[in-house]
Amino acid sequence: MAIATINPATGEKLKTFTALSDSQIEAKLTLAAEVFDDYRYQSMAQKSQWLNRAAELLEQDKLQFAKIMTIEMGKPMKGAIAEVEKCAWVCRFYAEKAEEFLANVAITSDATRSFVTYQPLGAILAVMPWNFPFWQVFRFAAPALMAGNVGILKHASNVPQCALAIEEIFQKAGFPNGVFQTFLIGADQVEKIINDNRVKAATLTGSEPAGMALAAAAGKQIKKTVLELGGSDPFIVLESANLEAAVATAVTARMLNSGQSCIAAKRFIVAESIYERFTTELVAKYKALKVGDPLQEDTDIGPLATPDILTELDQQVQETVRLGAKVLIGGKPADLLGNFYLPTILTEIPADSPGASEEFFGPVALLFRVKNIDEAIKLANHSAFGLGASAWTNESQECDRLVREIEAGALFINGLVKSDPRLPFGGIKRSGYGRELSSQGIHEFVNIKTVWIK
Ligand code: NAP
Repeated sequence: MAIATINPATGEKLKTFTALSDSQIEAKLTLAAEVFDDYRYQSMAQKSQWLNRAAELLEQDKLQFAKIMTIEMGKPMKGAIAEVEKCAWVCRFYAEKAEEFLANVAITSDATRSFVTYQPLGAILAVMPWNFPFWQVFRFAAPALMAGNVGILKHASNVPQCALAIEEIFQKAGFPNGVFQTFLIGADQVEKIINDNRVKAATLTGSEPAGMALAAAAGKQIKKTVLELGGSDPFIVLESANLEAAVATAVTARMLNSGQSCIAAKRFIVAESIYERFTTELVAKYKALKVGDPLQEDTDIGPLATPDILTELDQQVQETVRLGAKVLIGGKPADLLGNFYLPTILTEIPADSPGASEEFFGPVALLFRVKNIDEAIKLANHSAFGLGASAWTNESQECDRLVREIEAGALFINGLVKSDPRLPFGGIKRSGYGRELSSQGIHEFVNIKTVWIK
């Protein structure tokens, strides 16, 4: 894929970029290794100051950063502004908490003194997607830089201006030159970087094929990876649920970022006693959503990020319908210039259709009717993915069962699945492995060194 800014609302190519040459990559890797030798010993206080400064810079120019995202990948402005604010939050969170998370841990053993100490690894490669082009990067960078690592960003090829803006934020914040570098490179140049001895580990957020390719390459070099891949999160609504709250949340849960979120609720699994009411109310709410220019403040649904995503989503919908699903609303691209898809609800989804097994990356809700909690849990777990799950109930016994039996990296009861710097984030099954955020996130890319002193 060419490295370029193409406005998804208009199809207009605004700017193209040339991928780094081998010699440019070599110079940047040398810089990363050199700066790490000093940076690894920086005090927590100094790193916190720089990261807090990055948070201030984000907030100062949040409209400008939000606009870059909207122009490059079509995110409606209100979501883009909220994303910049969340990046400032994760910076401040790790600026404050990293010292506590990385403090030595004393352990009683046969030594006079034994303990665990956490030390940085070096240059960490982050391969990131376009869907939350600021957030995904900051949630990697804030803990990685506080741990004393240096960051190398290979961003998605359709958000190069976001990638460059983020590099500039870290530079302006005061981090030494080379502590965080953007590499404008294609996916085909990633393996070479992983193979380089100066790169110690890698993290990827994106699709399964990309995750497999990165993990295979890193595996050959015995380098650690964290993978945050796709999801087809269930949203279970049981009879005892607060239906009004569940329906209201079901709108945000599916439509946030025009449906292009890994932790979006994709499969709505609803008890049959409340199914008709839930469906009627959901249809009404989806009909009220405003599709259009993402730069307008009142737009709910913007364009999908690329024409390919639109085509793939429509193919999944058409195939699911061909096999027997019913379209309640939408079911096709919007009649607009750009990559717009109508808010869509499909029901009666056949078990052998894409709707039952694949991730739908766009504003398409898939509705399933179940008799009881047994069927709900079985259907929720009948997925190759295991990222998040949302479930709605007011029965404590049902709650206990969901906690025990749902196969996912996160379960939110009576709420929206969301990422939060305070809570660990990540998946199981084909959604990947490892955790980001919270204390677990900062421990992924450190040497957990055991020290034993007699
Ligand atoms: P993608 O194609 O996998 O792209 C993600 C990143 O991987 C991009 O930087 C891409 O570079 C790079 N890449 C692609 N193929 C590669 C390869 N063979 N080797 C190395 N790097 C490669 O993902 P997408 O389709 O744009 O993003 C949507 C997917 O990401 C969805 O499945 C979504 O659920 C998932 N996602 C997961 C999370 C999470 O936290 N779990 C969050 C957001 C999104 P190019 O752009 O240059 O191809």
